[in-house]
Amino acid sequence: MFNNLGDRFKDIFKKVRGQGKLTESNMKDALREVRLALLEADVNYSVAKNFVSRIREKALGEEVISGVNPTQQFVKIVNDELVKVLGGTNVALKKAEKGMTVVMLCGLQGAGKTTFSGKLAKFLKSKGEKPFLIGADVYRPAAKKQLKVLAQQVKVGSFTIDESTDALKIVQEGIKAAKDENATYVIIDTAGRLHIDEELMKELHDIKDNVKPDEILLVVDGMTGQDAVNVAKSFNEELDITGVVLTKLDGDTRGGAALSVKEVAGKPIKFISEGEKLDDVSAFHPDRLASRILGMGDVVSLVEKAQEAIDEKEAKKMEEKFRKNQFDFEDFLKQFKMIRKMGSIAGIMKMIPGVDTSMIDMGMAEKEMKKVEAIIYSMTVEERRNPKLLKAGTRKGRIAKGSGVQVNDVNKLIKQFEQMKQMMKMFNSGAIPGLGMMKGR
Ligand code: GDP
Repeated sequence: MFNNLGDRFKDIFKKVRGQGKLTESNMKDALREVRLALLEADVNYSVAKNFVSRIREKALGEEVISGVNPTQQFVKIVNDELVKVLGGTNVALKKAEKGMTVVMLCGLQGAGKTTFSGKLAKFLKSKGEKPFLIGADVYRPAAKKQLKVLAQQVKVGSFTIDESTDALKIVQEGIKAAKDENATYVIIDTAGRLHIDEELMKELHDIKDNVKPDEILLVVDGMTGQDAVNVAKSFNEELDITGVVLTKLDGDTRGGAALSVKEVAGKPIKFISEGEKLDDVSAFHPDRLASRILGMGDVVSLVEKAQEAIDEKEAKKMEEKFRKNQFDFEDFLKQFKMIRKMGSIAGIMKMIPGVDTSMIDMGMAEKEMKKVEAIIYSMTVEERRNPKLLKAGTRKGRIAKGSGVQVNDVNKLIKQFEQMKQMMKMFNSGAIPGLGMMKGR
């Protein structure tokens, strides 16, 4: 599922790479492609349009975050928007404050209702609940038997009346049977039709009015794309459902239904099903699906960490110092601390796509970093602020001793520091364009 959409996004991100800043003109093509990719994945037209316009707004209005580049920032914006369109956060299945929680399932024939009854029973059982199934699909002849078999497989109680076509009666008696068994959840499988019709809605209304379910979950076939979204919209208008279950997201589903249903029908997706087996079901988490679509979970957490760790005011001050070539060892130490806050070097490097960490000796990099830190800590504040003082051999000897390194190591660091300052001078004089990695751009 979502393979095509994921590939399209990756291509788009590749094209954005290398831009110094996100601007109206360099975003134009990328945004057009995002819209096309969504439409191709069968996302509802107005959902796609709104999606793109929100990304545009955010990308152009976004403050530049130090420590990440514009591509990474763009990935994060797209990710956040995806999460939002998918519903934001997981909306868990309700649990009645006291007594049995009643879950009514509805949907068109073949959507996967009966199968989902069994899946939900298994899911709840694994959470320590005691579910009970009621087979009130009086329309499809094999449904009641199918439900009974599922209940046996999951080893939970079930109820139906084989010879009855009175759905309400089955439900009422089933609820009594469930109470007798001290069930904590009762799951009602109702009848579907090939299309939404009055008879179906009347039957569902009767059940709803009578048993007042805690949850009315609509089961829709994710493979039907926009039809699934329209079905969800109609059922919601009729029955005021509490959530949606998307089935058949395995195989070559393009995923448009998942991306449109929340925005069009206004109700959260609570579960997704990705196969015929009882275990092929999971609670729906928008962030996990977004991350699966984009395949960029690592970049997203990198940007989040940078946003948390980097004090923008501090970063600006630092930039100013670079520009005026007033950067000293105190600032060096501050930069170190910022990076440290983002985690270990190995962790940070691994999060950056395209960096082949197997080529870098992470242990060595960590060790080097610690060594440099120790040397700077052994300097007096005066020395850090005025690195010229470090020319004196006695000072270098003292620092080496204090930090447990050789004088040579101290010399090396001072030399590197001087080289860096030299380089900054060249950047600032325009001899080398841009401030490169130090500004994170
Ligand atoms: P109902 O009429 O809504 O009760 O539908 P069923 O539960 O009988 O399901 C109809 C068909 O869809 C059955 O063959 C199920 O095995 C199949 N099915 C249900 N959920 C999924 C799913 O998530 N993936 C796939 N591939 N098939 C499913």
